[in-house]
Amino acid sequence: MVVVMQKGAAPEQRERVLTEIKALGFTPHVSDGESRSLIGAIGPAPTEEVRDHLRALPGVETVVRITKPFKLASREFRHDDSAVRIGDVATGQGRFVVAAGPCGVESREQLRAAADIAHRHGAQVLRGGAFKPRTSPYSFQGLGEEGLELLAEARAATGMPIVTEVTAPELVETVAATADMLQIGARNSQNFALLAEAGKSGKPVLFKRGLSTSISEFLQAAEYVLSQGNANVVLCERGIRTFETSTRFTLDISAVPVLKELTHLPVWVDPSHAAGRRPLVPALTLAAAAAGADGVIVEVHAKPEDAKSDAAQQLDDGEFAALMAQLRGVVAAVGKTL
Ligand code: PEP
Ligand code: MN
Repeated sequence: MVVVMQKGAAPEQRERVLTEIKALGFTPHVSDGESRSLIGAIGPAPTEEVRDHLRALPGVETVVRITKPFKLASREFRHDDSAVRIGDVATGQGRFVVAAGPCGVESREQLRAAADIAHRHGAQVLRGGAFKPRTSPYSFQGLGEEGLELLAEARAATGMPIVTEVTAPELVETVAATADMLQIGARNSQNFALLAEAGKSGKPVLFKRGLSTSISEFLQAAEYVLSQGNANVVLCERGIRTFETSTRFTLDISAVPVLKELTHLPVWVDPSHAAGRRPLVPALTLAAAAAGADGVIVEVHAKPEDAKSDAAQQLDDGEFAALMAQLRGVVAAVGKTL
């Protein structure tokens, strides 16, 4: 349930509500809106008596039940869009963010060249995998900690905050020490121990939808981060598995407006992993912005043909420049800033 405080409720009134919620066996989560605070109480289904008791406390406007299986992510908990900060960059509430960079960090030179492309054409966040979750154990697995050091160097050189993937709970501390945002990949979409650990780190999380997770499962999985007291979650649609074989995955573009209806969290799209092929990436990126996404994460590489992973889908300098020019028009047309 959510306890909605009155506008201008006193801090002592809020404290009293928090104390009562804890005494009743619920875990409180505070969300401060423009003019009033919302206090989520997560726990067993509250009885009518419990709700009446809380409703009668001084400073409380009303108590609302959350009917959805996902609680803190739901629009019932927080009606207004939330924004998430990645270093100095904010996404959501009308701010469109482009994260760009190579699939994997391969070398200092390769990362610097890709970061330069991303930066020059106006991407605000740098992506690059140091720990790569590969389908085959024989494929390039990433440079690991050395990759993190190279990402930190690229951040120092460009000023761009970095998003990079964490593949296991025991790596969260190491990756969080360098990353501005932790990425949790599609293959780990229901790795609940990893999600909870990322939640505890307090770092913003870019959470990819799994290859075959429903929207409800996706949002329930996001609760593992949120319920640790970490509200900085960005959801990312990156294509799902269907019978169609002409693309790597089927980009579920309708997931964008469906998610925007159900949740206040920012929603991004990854057109690169959905498409799997360079020529399709621009159209899917523009579609994402037109459908209401708050950002995209796009793979770029100075020499895509030499990439150690996902060579077919990474954009080169000219392709990324052309895409950014078109994207600015679409983002402006939907009333957002880029
Ligand atoms: C990635 O972004 O590097 C990646 C592996 O994506 P996904 O988890 O969506 O496959
Ligand atoms: Mn990739």
